[in-house]
Amino acid sequence: MILVSACLAGICCKYDGGNNGIPLIKELVRQGKAIPLCPEQLGGLPTPRMPAEIKGGSARDVLQGKASVIRNDGADVTENFVRGASEVLKFCQEMGIMCAILKSKSPSCGKGLVYDGTFKGKLVEGNGVTAQLLIDNGIEVMTEEEIEPACLLNI
Ligand code: SF4
Repeated sequence: MILVSACLAGICCKYDGGNNGIPLIKELVRQGKAIPLCPEQLGGLPTPRMPAEIKGGSARDVLQGKASVIRNDGADVTENFVRGASEVLKFCQEMGIMCAILKSKSPSCGKGLVYDGTFKGKLVEGNGVTAQLLIDNGIEVMTEEEIEPACLLNI
């Protein structure tokens, strides 16, 4: 069993009320091989919601209380992002999930690249808050851009 970002499974949990559904992820969920979760919703944020980006450090800094996640109107939503990440980790540990396919570039789910906190569409090296917490706890994380379709359908 793997975890997937809910928006990749076609669930309309994106900040703008839309989704990032892709056929392979939907098929994995349909076959009962993947469970979709949205950390931002699990952290108590509504949908739709204003976009947010990590500011003042890395995702690990956010988890250690040294950086923040800020909405584009300036509101601090760090607590929601950390709570959502903790809920996702707790669920993975309870279910024995050791692998996740998460949405690239998201301040929660991204891996490798995330937006830089200026809301100007500029990417910097780093992970989303949930992706970082999962990685730090030994769960393999890949994005939808890294998956090998043939392998996954044989899970
Ligand atoms: S938090 Fe993750 S699952 Fe939720 S909408 Fe953003 S990228 Fe998708």
